[in-house]
Amino acid sequence: MSGGRLVAAIGAARAAAFLSRAMRMGGGTTMPGRVARAIEPRVVPTLAGRLRHGTMVVTGTNGKTTTSRLVAHILEHAGLVPIHNRAGANLAAGIAAALVEHATLGGVPRGDVGVFEVDEATLPRVVDGLRPRAVILTNLFRDQLDRYGEIDLVAAGWRQTVSVLPASATVILNADDPLVADVAGAVRAGGAEVLAFGVEDPACGLGAGEGGAPPEHTAEARYCYRCGRPYLYTTVYYGHMGHYRCSGCDAARPAPQVVAREVRLRGIEGTRFLLEGPGAAFAVRTVLPGLYNVYNILAACACCLAMGVAPETVERAVENFTPAFGRAEQMRIDGREAVMLLAKNPAGFNEVLRTVLRSGEAPVVLIAINDLTADGRDISWLWDVDFEMLAGRAQAVVDTGIRGEDMALRLKYAGVAEERVLLEKDWERALRAALERVPEDKRLFILPTYTAMLHLRGILQRLGVVEGFWRQ
Ligand SMILES: [Zn+2]
Repeated sequence: MSGGRLVAAIGAARAAAFLSRAMRMGGGTTMPGRVARAIEPRVVPTLAGRLRHGTMVVTGTNGKTTTSRLVAHILEHAGLVPIHNRAGANLAAGIAAALVEHATLGGVPRGDVGVFEVDEATLPRVVDGLRPRAVILTNLFRDQLDRYGEIDLVAAGWRQTVSVLPASATVILNADDPLVADVAGAVRAGGAEVLAFGVEDPACGLGAGEGGAPPEHTAEARYCYRCGRPYLYTTVYYGHMGHYRCSGCDAARPAPQVVAREVRLRGIEGTRFLLEGPGAAFAVRTVLPGLYNVYNILAACACCLAMGVAPETVERAVENFTPAFGRAEQMRIDGREAVMLLAKNPAGFNEVLRTVLRSGEAPVVLIAINDLTADGRDISWLWDVDFEMLAGRAQAVVDTGIRGEDMALRLKYAGVAEERVLLEKDWERALRAALERVPEDKRLFILPTYTAMLHLRGILQRLGVVEGFWRQ
């Protein structure tokens, strides 16, 4: 490989990043990576190979951003210098951009470990170049189907990818998600290690529906991929996460090695639980709300413990971790508290609604629904979210976004009283109307889809409430 080409690739990518930032093209998260790879196709394997402590990859439908930020945060506490891709730059070009941005012009990384979040369907395309030490598989939900096709295809891609990992690699996976847990067989067949995590606290679950079926209609992996028979659950935590076994074959939830016990969900005030794993047992105290974040924390802790980080370091790092923008970050707008909880798909939305309702009486909620490519163009998924939870309980629901009318219709059918719903298509007016409805000692809950979150962030930036995207 020509060293000159690497230098040229890094230089050109720098210039591209500078230009896109100067022209305010949204932080320039992937364009520099595309430029670098066009000049030197081996830029990713070359730079990743120079990271002293190797690379970790996080993928799955929900929780990638929080989990990968948490891994990077814990590794920083352990004295390492992680290189991390930016939120939203989850494709191969985003990883190239991160590696190039954090390297000297001569091609020396300004860090010693890579922590990258990648989209579910992208995993097979990045593993070859990155040769990760650890791969975290969080969960698989139906999400953005128009982009990726069936989740079964994604799972098949994962099985193929992990089966070629070397014995030195570890795959950290969710035992409570049947589709993800099933990947373990392919990992072992290839020779790599499996470290499974899961929740061991039926008291914080939803129980199980009639005949052992998941109680939410958002559950997608209801049928065993090996034999096609339905799974039977004794406990469902959310969506199709839970304690299950197949009614037709011997597929069943594997016993996880890293577990959460005695989970205490305190709404937006955060969460406590006991984490137990090989050589580790400690109390987790975190500001991250909701059971979905218990899974993110388990995944990140399992990964860092497997990488040899001391349990005390992991415990301390989790405690002082603050969430990313839109993932329960708290802010003050015009003298009112507000918190933004990204909701991308039915299972995630249900968990967010439960977190809101656990946070106190009669919440005021701003819902912002878009249907741009990154949100999924088909918004029929709104009918799979249990908005019925808000009926008779929400003080007010202000509704905005490109698909505000669809959301208003959904709320009507969910039984939310008409006089409590305000449809306001102007984003800033919607935000102000929602804030006005919040009593002084309460907070506003903002529940946006992905691009709605970015749009609201732009407004909050203009109002001086949050900093620029690319400074994060
Ligand atoms: Zn089966």
